[in-house]
Amino acid sequence: MDTAGTDTAGTDTAGMDTAGMDPELKAYADAARGFMPVDEGAALYEAAMGVTTPGPFLEVGSYCGKSSIYLGAAARSRDTVLFALDHHRGSEENQAGWEYHEPDLVDPAVNKMDTLPIFRRTVHDAGLEGVVIALVGQSIPVAENWGMPLAFLFIDGGHGAEPAHADYEHWMPHVAVGSRVAIHDVFPNPADGGRPPFEIYTRAMESGAFREIGHTGSLRVLERTGPGI
Ligand code: SAH
Ligand code: MG
Repeated sequence: MDTAGTDTAGTDTAGMDTAGMDPELKAYADAARGFMPVDEGAALYEAAMGVTTPGPFLEVGSYCGKSSIYLGAAARSRDTVLFALDHHRGSEENQAGWEYHEPDLVDPAVNKMDTLPIFRRTVHDAGLEGVVIALVGQSIPVAENWGMPLAFLFIDGGHGAEPAHADYEHWMPHVAVGSRVAIHDVFPNPADGGRPPFEIYTRAMESGAFREIGHTGSLRVLERTGPGI
């Protein structure tokens, strides 16, 4: 479950700070439409800035492009690109009748959600069109055809059990040893939100292939330390 709420409990930012993000771009990202609290966006930026491996960044779940700005800013500074993957039809909880539905995001011609126009506008206005590359499609077929090791992976797509575990299984192998993964909406306490992101975080930790390097609100940042996902 995505949430716009800010959970600062248990914050351990491991020396992260946001001094490096262009203040104008940061203000723009902080104000952009989406589901990313300001402190978690800052942590996301710092986590991506700290990568030490080569390769592109990729996020699963861009929505209107809010997280794409934090990550795109880091990608630009690190001289790489961000692939921003989303089918732009919304997750289960974004559909009509669900908690996180925003009716103005429905394309009346097809009566489906369509966040792509807003995403495009967000990236354009941030000046990041040369860095943020939209991949419009379903996460799993893209993952199955993906060939390049990632320096940074951000998982914030479907939050149901099936899509969250499918993202874990299909995307984690593309994270190179030494590279980083951030998982959003990790709520250890079921009262705070849906559990599948917490389950895949737990899965990563129990695999022995990752160590945790940062924790801000519901954002967990991991580094891949070895094989055996
Ligand atoms: N990171 C965003 C919020 C993402 S919301 C922000 O900062 O605001 C989750 C997004 O995941 C939705 O836009 C939805 O369309 C996308 N999504 C869900 N399941 C998906 C799938 N299987 N393939 C591609 N995108 C998916
Ligand atoms: Mg989220």
